[in-house]
Amino acid sequence: MQSTDDVLVSYNPANGDEIGRVRMTSCQELDRIVADARAAYRDSGWQSLLPHKRALILHAVADGLTAEKESLAKLQMRDNGKPMGECLGMVDSAVGTFRYYAGVCETLETDVTPSRGDYVSFTVLEPYGVVAAITPWNSPLMNDATKVAPALAAGNAVILKPSEDSPLLAPELMRIAREAGLPQGQLQVVQGRGADIGAALVEHPDVRMVSFTGGTVAGRVIGRTAGERLIPAALELGGKSPHVVFADADREHAIAAVVAGIFGSAGQSCVAGSRVFIQHDIYDEVLERIVERASALRVDFPDVDGVEMGPLSSLHHRRRVIDFVDRARTEGGRILCGGQIPDDPRFAAGAFYLPTVIDGLSPRSRTCQEEAFGPVLVALPFDDEIDLVEKANDTDFGLACGIWTENFKKAWRIGRALDAGSVWINTYKQSVTSTPFGGFKDSGIGREKGIDGLRLYAQVKSLYLGLHEQPMKIAK
Ligand code: NAD
Repeated sequence: MQSTDDVLVSYNPANGDEIGRVRMTSCQELDRIVADARAAYRDSGWQSLLPHKRALILHAVADGLTAEKESLAKLQMRDNGKPMGECLGMVDSAVGTFRYYAGVCETLETDVTPSRGDYVSFTVLEPYGVVAAITPWNSPLMNDATKVAPALAAGNAVILKPSEDSPLLAPELMRIAREAGLPQGQLQVVQGRGADIGAALVEHPDVRMVSFTGGTVAGRVIGRTAGERLIPAALELGGKSPHVVFADADREHAIAAVVAGIFGSAGQSCVAGSRVFIQHDIYDEVLERIVERASALRVDFPDVDGVEMGPLSSLHHRRRVIDFVDRARTEGGRILCGGQIPDDPRFAAGAFYLPTVIDGLSPRSRTCQEEAFGPVLVALPFDDEIDLVEKANDTDFGLACGIWTENFKKAWRIGRALDAGSVWINTYKQSVTSTPFGGFKDSGIGREKGIDGLRLYAQVKSLYLGLHEQPMKIAK
């Protein structure tokens, strides 16, 4: 991305070609867009549409995404450089999310609560009104769907703000939703930089709820504004997830998972397993094999068959990763592989970086504490369960973790002891729409996905239906 005063230019990170431009939304336009969203919320009939009819439109959005799967995947591949296979998977994920929330919308039940008098009391779910959905660049369509589908299912009007680094998918989702029959104004897109239009959106007095996925720094700012405004904020933030290999693990699978867990999506995944903890007795052997595999990964253009790692999402993001690895060097880290731009001249115009493995660092070093959001794995040894839990939990983050052991009792103990919203035992990076997702500690507040993913976008209203023939004493 590059921006002039009012235009964002999107570049293909594989070769530097310009692939699209979008106009940034001005603050005046934002006022009009929020007013349109309010009007749609009040008057379009979406909110009062019976859930099974709302569900039909959500299914139609899924149909529209399916019909354009190939072209949407290609657009994302060019917008942020992920391998085509991953991009096709992201469209499938967005489709699945719309279908899932169509199902939840139709079947979600609320409560008849035990009465303590002559009345029936029960709850219903009411939408908030206008909801802001703010998303990052790493998986645009998938992250957009995770917010938009449940927020619409709950009856809200949604204003979606994609990242300035991947602005091209959100307008497509809006178009497809309109074509699927979603009323005008019910889903709108604003474009621009986070600190400008993003902040203005969160501060807007008619925005009644905000759902944010992105970095911890922006999450804190948004949480602060939402706190002052007394509106709910769901925050899905960063991670520095530990991936643990015990001596009794199935080594082949553990090693493959560690490599896929960090170098998939070139490490630009919130749940990337960016710290591998290997038990002392097997540390040298397992680390050597991880390094061997990482070095052999096929780094190539994202549309090439067999590519295992594409470029990073932009040249400026690669700059951040280069600086991160340079700092690891100054902290005393040993770069066991990667740590540089590939020297193949075919990649000269792209944002490529080699899979990097580092060891020899203190767990308290900044390299082991901060998120690189790139293909950088740090390796750390541990002695026993106590040592592992202490080291692995010694970070501000708590998004996810992976545990490899053949001993299920140990897996259970460690899974319960680690600070993480998602725990993967003898698997890694599974993420399905039906299972709640979110972080502990600085990795976020709230849970997306699952049935409660819809409740996130709704407020509970309690109603009492009086049954007494003479509920009040009437003065004669
Ligand atoms: P970012 O925080 O820089 O930006 C995310 C979005 O927020 C963008 O749309 C940006 O324009 C907007 N934004 C930034 N500052 C804002 C502000 N003050 N007010 C309102 N909006 C603002 O993050 P990024 O670089 O786009 O994405 C990478 C980060 O996202 C990483 O930290 C990664 O771990 C995290 N992430 C988390 C999850 C999750 O589910 N937990 C998923 C994907 C990415």
